[in-house]
Amino acid sequence: MTSPNFEHLKAHILPLSVAKIFEAARQEWELVAVEISDEWDNCPCGQEIKEHCYIRNRHNGNTTYVGNVCINRFIQIDTGNLFDGLKRIAQDDSANANIDLIEHAYRMGYLYNEKEYHFLLQTVRKRILSQAQLNWKRKINRRILAQTIVQRRTKR
Ligand SMILES: [Zn+2]
Repeated sequence: MTSPNFEHLKAHILPLSVAKIFEAARQEWELVAVEISDEWDNCPCGQEIKEHCYIRNRHNGNTTYVGNVCINRFIQIDTGNLFDGLKRIAQDDSANANIDLIEHAYRMGYLYNEKEYHFLLQTVRKRILSQAQLNWKRKINRRILAQTIVQRRTKR
């Protein structure tokens, strides 16, 4: 796992962490939000990214972001098919969010209530929805997109 990219990431994460050893330090971090932007940015590892994973250190409250590769490979938080799900509803706001996206949206508070959560789960593979269900799904998807898709990203 030793590559120049990993060393760069490590040099970014360790000073923001409490533990001094990466293997322990990485476990202090949790995923707090994801975003897809339309402009390229850089992961601390040096790689160009459009998929941002915002992470927060549970012990000292520090926040930063890494790309979708580093979050899985190095921080070892599994984002599964979250970004695929996001891209799918970004292309078509009546599409079904996948399980990983539904769980993420629920955890992040993007869903208003349990009813929305169960509706998304129950219709996760449904191809044909009633007009009312379709409207509801669009409304929820647009809310998720508003929180996760960033156009013309402003520098932080
Ligand atoms: Zn990276």
